Order: sequence, then structure tokens, then C-alpha cells
Amino acid sequence: MSETTSADGGEKTLPCGCRVRTHRDFIGRVLGTILARGIDCTDARHTIDAAVIMPGREHASPDTGGLLS
Ligand SMILES: [Zn+2]
Repeated sequence: MSETTSADGGEKTLPCGCRVRTHRDFIGRVLGTILARGIDCTDARHTIDAAVIMPGREHASPDTGGLLS
């Protein structure tokens, strides 16, 4: 597996099929701005230009890469 999960300025496809551009807000949360709605998406919040909080990456830090020693 070689999935890259850069949180800054990257693009990502959500499990629902929506295409988002990811970025961090001022407190470090990863947000995704909807670029294109997935054809199977049933989430009414996922509209073009809407920002959603990306799950599961709240504690990831691209600065340390997880190496805190
Ligand atoms: Zn969606």
C-alpha cells in the first residue's frame, strides 16, 4: 500500500464518493471542501463548496510524521 494522506492542499475521495480538497483550519483540524458530489452520496451536507471535517485524522501531524522520540 502506498496511499499518501497529505492533509495540506491535497485532494481525496470520501467513502461516499465525494471528491474533496483537504486543508487544515486554524486549530489543526483537517477539513475537506467538496469539489464534486459522489453519485452514491446520501449525505445532504455534502454540497459543492461545503466544508466537512475529515474523520480520523485529528491527531495526525505531518510535521512530526508520528516520530516523537
Ligand atoms: Zn458525500
